[in-house]
Amino acid sequence: MSAKKGLAELGEFGLIEHIQAQAGSAPFLKLGIGDDCSILTVASDEELLTSTDLLIEGVHFDLNWTGFEQLGHKSIAVNISDIAAMGGLPKCLYLAVAVPPTLSVDSLEQFIGGVLAETKRHGAILAGGDTSRSSGPLVISVTVQGTVKKGQAVCRNGAKDSELIFVSGTLGDSALALTQFKQGMSPAPELERKHHCPQARSELGSRLAGRKLASSMIDISDGLIADLGHILAASTAGAVLNLEAIPLSPSFRAACHMQPEIIDLALTGGEDYELLFTVAPDSEPEIDRLATELNLPLTCIGSVEKSGELRIVRKDGSNYQNQQGGFEHFAEH
Ligand code: ADP
Ligand code: MG
Repeated sequence: MSAKKGLAELGEFGLIEHIQAQAGSAPFLKLGIGDDCSILTVASDEELLTSTDLLIEGVHFDLNWTGFEQLGHKSIAVNISDIAAMGGLPKCLYLAVAVPPTLSVDSLEQFIGGVLAETKRHGAILAGGDTSRSSGPLVISVTVQGTVKKGQAVCRNGAKDSELIFVSGTLGDSALALTQFKQGMSPAPELERKHHCPQARSELGSRLAGRKLASSMIDISDGLIADLGHILAASTAGAVLNLEAIPLSPSFRAACHMQPEIIDLALTGGEDYELLFTVAPDSEPEIDRLATELNLPLTCIGSVEKSGELRIVRKDGSNYQNQQGGFEHFAEH
């Protein structure tokens, strides 16, 4: 595909051919791009998981500080994260794009490069999609299909009284990077990476499900408090979180040192794409072993309680009240 060629000239089918030529194959994909549907083989002892996400320019991403390859990576990673949150592994992805005519072929090529690289990195395959012209912003919709062993999918509604609440990685980095981008600053590389290239925790999710360790699970896309809130509502439970136990990156800690109120970003900032899950109290040693296996921090940040409240407490026993709620699309920003 020539970089000089305009998108109008390349056309819908030119773009599809370009994608098809690079999509590759996978043993579980009987038929990929090119027909009316893909055909996916599902083993008889597995169940199919499906999820869709929408990314709209100006709502979910800003091209002033987002590169096209990063955008491709993120579009795929956020979907795979939903499969991970159920304990599954991703198999097929579907990419629907509405492209403004002003977008260069170069940019589109970088975007597709990011999409395919991230898809392949997870052993999955791009199996179809849809392509249209947009009269407004760039719109991306990705659908993912994954599989999980029958009966092993981990839902939001399984949290039980006295169980421990764990989270992977560190929290708040993506939201801090976004805040700094909006202020015209350049975030530290560690923060920027977390914002632009989140890592879907599919190995973690699948091992937690396969070993029957997690009783409930969710990926943190809207912020810790909001997403834990979803688990608690679905499980009809409450929880206590220990503020000082929340895992923070060195760059986040440094920023917090200068401005202590930044801690709220770790509680309410979205797009961390870490996994939040509950486990029985006697599973803690197994979770520690899993953390070592995956070379990924897994931190206990609190416990489930019978009552329907979510409390955040400091080391000295006092309650902490965050200033902001989690991300909510229909709230005024
Ligand atoms: P239909 O008319 O049945 O919607 P299309 O002409 O839109 O078919 O698509 C032809 C093939 O190319 C289908 O297999 C479809 O899944 C695939 N496809 C279209 N757009 C994309 C895309 N952006 N990414 C991946 N595959 C795509
Ligand atoms: Mg179509």
